[in-house]
Amino acid sequence: MNNEELICSFCGRKKAETSLLIAGLDAHICDRCIEQANGIVLEESSQESEASLSKDLILKKPVEIKTFLDEYIIGQDVTKRVLSVAVYNHYKRLLQPQNKEDIEIQKSNILMVGETGTGKTLMAKTIARMLNVPLAIVDATVLTEAGYVGEDVESILTRLLQAADYDLEKAQHGIVFIDEVDKIARKSDNPSITRDVSGEGVQQALLKLLEGTVVNVPPKGGRKHPDQKFIEVNTENILFIAGGAFDGIDRHISKRLNMQSVGYNTSKAEVSYDQGNLLQYIIPTDLKDFGLIPEIIGRLPVLTHMNPLDKMTLLAILTQPKNAIIKQYEKLFEMDEIAFSITHSALETIVDKAIEYKLGARGLRSLCEAVLTDAMFELPGTDQTQLKVDKNYVLSKLNKSKLNQLKAVS
Ligand code: ADP
Repeated sequence: MNNEELICSFCGRKKAETSLLIAGLDAHICDRCIEQANGIVLEESSQESEASLSKDLILKKPVEIKTFLDEYIIGQDVTKRVLSVAVYNHYKRLLQPQNKEDIEIQKSNILMVGETGTGKTLMAKTIARMLNVPLAIVDATVLTEAGYVGEDVESILTRLLQAADYDLEKAQHGIVFIDEVDKIARKSDNPSITRDVSGEGVQQALLKLLEGTVVNVPPKGGRKHPDQKFIEVNTENILFIAGGAFDGIDRHISKRLNMQSVGYNTSKAEVSYDQGNLLQYIIPTDLKDFGLIPEIIGRLPVLTHMNPLDKMTLLAILTQPKNAIIKQYEKLFEMDEIAFSITHSALETIVDKAIEYKLGARGLRSLCEAVLTDAMFELPGTDQTQLKVDKNYVLSKLNKSKLNQLKAVS
């Protein structure tokens, strides 16, 4: 075949009509077809990366998210609903096709206010597990302004990268839970502090991350290796959930509520607030009065609260969640072919002790350990096939244990 007769096997153009004709085994392709094919490849791969996000990410509807949370977390209904919507909207925002003219949906970072041990971390963990996205849990108390002793705010992203096995794509769609965020509030009522190393400066640094920015992150963390390569992490699609006890914020809330009731000229009888749980009335202004800068408050637009855990809730926590502590012990004993059972009054005793020692839900596990360690040590390998734990059993083991000393401490 002579050169002039060669044609592109895709579009049929003659060699003379093309700028370039590349020969394959028994076909030819022209420059235009190459360009077109390249466009198709690019489009496919961008669809694929969107698909890979949706493949890993298991996005459920808000009602389903709440049902999932219900399996692991007792009570806290308001927060579960608020969180389900916020998380759903956040990931819906990520999955929407990128179109510049579209309405830009803003991030819905979350702030959970509630006493320690009420399940804030558990909430974040359960959501990350449900969505199948990496989660980094960081403590705001260790963060300091760059240049001071402590960790830079960027270290948060190092943790997230580690949680994502250094898969940048995954990390950029992950969740960061910042615990004890109340500890970086401005300590304005302390005039002796001239440099607010762990306060406002950290809030400012954190602000950038919450807003969405590209940060140079040292993959191994720390400042000790100045020559280590940085990874550029874009925080735009990372969901930040902050949590804190905000000790003393009830005073601000109470003051505001009182002023309001005076302001609106309502009689006391008309407005009655649940004094035992003032956190439920929290609004952003209270956070400002507590010492968070308005910009941070603005970047944590979803504000919700955790209820204190009462006796009923603690009892339910022991037995009801999918991986409830008691269920775990049942399983452990079952592996040694021992049928483990515990009476209601025994459970109540454990809960009473948790309340008495002011340990909350966090203490339930240590109390159970104290009660059951002897049995878990002695029974395996013996002929005993049953363990029945009643109130007396609990009391005798707890009296023996060093947990008893906690009482003196608290
Ligand atoms: P916080 O982050 O608010 O300090 P955590 O989430 O760490 O509290 O809770 C401590 C432990 O208490 C959890 O591991 C969990 O076992 C238990 N817990 C607390 N609240 C609940 C709840 N509402 N439902 C089930 N378990 C809970």
